[in-house]
Amino acid sequence: MDFDLLVLGAGSGGLAAAKRAASYGVRVAIAEGDRVGGTCVIRGCVPKKLMVYASEYQELLANASSYGWQTGEPHCDTSLLLANVRREVDRLNSLHISLLAKAEVELIPGFAQFLDPHRLAIAGREVTAERILIAVGGRPHRLAIPGAEKAWVSDDLFLQERLPASIVIVGAGYIACEFACILSGLGVAVTQVVRGDRLLKEFDRELATAVQEGMAELGINLCFGQQPTAIEGTAAQLSLVAGEQRWNCEAVLLATGRRPFLEGLGLEQAGVTVEGQRLVVDAQQTTNVGHIFAVGDVTDRVNLTPVAVDEGRAFADTVYGSKPRVVNHELIATAVFTQPEMATVGLSEEQAVARFGAEAIRVHRARFRSLNQALPARGPRCLLKLVLEKASDRVLGCHMVGSHSAEIIQMAAIALGMGATKADFDRTMALHPSISEEFVTMA
Ligand code: NDP
Repeated sequence: MDFDLLVLGAGSGGLAAAKRAASYGVRVAIAEGDRVGGTCVIRGCVPKKLMVYASEYQELLANASSYGWQTGEPHCDTSLLLANVRREVDRLNSLHISLLAKAEVELIPGFAQFLDPHRLAIAGREVTAERILIAVGGRPHRLAIPGAEKAWVSDDLFLQERLPASIVIVGAGYIACEFACILSGLGVAVTQVVRGDRLLKEFDRELATAVQEGMAELGINLCFGQQPTAIEGTAAQLSLVAGEQRWNCEAVLLATGRRPFLEGLGLEQAGVTVEGQRLVVDAQQTTNVGHIFAVGDVTDRVNLTPVAVDEGRAFADTVYGSKPRVVNHELIATAVFTQPEMATVGLSEEQAVARFGAEAIRVHRARFRSLNQALPARGPRCLLKLVLEKASDRVLGCHMVGSHSAEIIQMAAIALGMGATKADFDRTMALHPSISEEFVTMA
């Protein structure tokens, strides 16, 4: 065999697995048909968060005068912003390539296709490996409606030279809501078209409502109960059509979910079965074929970067490091980088009620305007919420909408992982003045 391990896909999960496996002294190669770094680095978390920072300046600048700063008429050069974001992505791409070399992982450019269970074709080369890890991630899903090819998906946004004056965004999940806020903050007129009756329906309803109210206050035109039927027009004069409704805009962004990227892998040649549209693995990340494994979004479990990284490292630790371990898919903190920002760990109120019954849980909440909003006297109020199991006093869920909620909930996740009770929270001295002190002073 050419290699002990061949990893397909140099994204978060694949890179983590390849480097960890190589650290145990095995011969590792990684095949990547696109840019090294994957969704997170190239067209997801990293460039998205940079654009979030950029868009937040709008509110900061709007509030500046109440703190005495006279800034004149601000203007964002979005061409410069997009170019700077791409430059940072290029830097990270080069960094990840050099880290692979340092780890002595061979990078094989090209998409891999199974020829048989141990043999793959990669850009005209045949490669054999004792074990194969599939970490090829996911791709945005385009609606099957006439004209869908005229729309952007989130990948496309980062490739633009400038932002449009107006956009219609379809969807109500992470990507739709984050991009609606980013683009609105950067001066784009945003309409968000949603098939259901609310945003972020997978999250605690009260929190999602707080985000929705904040987004409406930003001036995002939220249109509910609308199922898109077509995209019409050409170039920068498009219309999204939903039955009798029509919205004219310069661009349409489809943020209607992502799917595992299974096309072209030749899984049938390897005997790997696909269920629905994903690869099914056991707790050791093994597919139905004993020497073929999968991690990350291609398994469509919890599609978040840190989860893919942990799955990749757990695979390498277990198979090559004599340190068998199972990834804990419970209590995963997550944030939606909207404005206001939302972050959460543990059970939503609705999930807690479904699991324990309404009588068995208690909810504490605090809703207030944070101190940094006092002088401008504007902006969305914070919402902090604890969901408790009455009998044990255990905190089942810790949720927040407001500034720095991702940073705060990341720390709260440690406490929840340790089984913290409300009494533990209450025993903690408040850090004043802060937003998160409300978590330890809630009546
Ligand atoms: P989500 O699954 O979060 O949301 C998809 C949205 O598309 C939903 O609102 C859904 O509507 C809507 N939709 C799906 N099909 C249709 C249809 N046929 N017609 C109209 N609307 C439709 O996917 P995203 O694309 O937003 O994000 C993909 C994943 O990427 C996330 O689940 C997350 O795991 C990850 N991600 C994480 C981020 C973070 O950690 N901050 C940021 C971005 C992405 P409905 O609500 O009615 O189902």
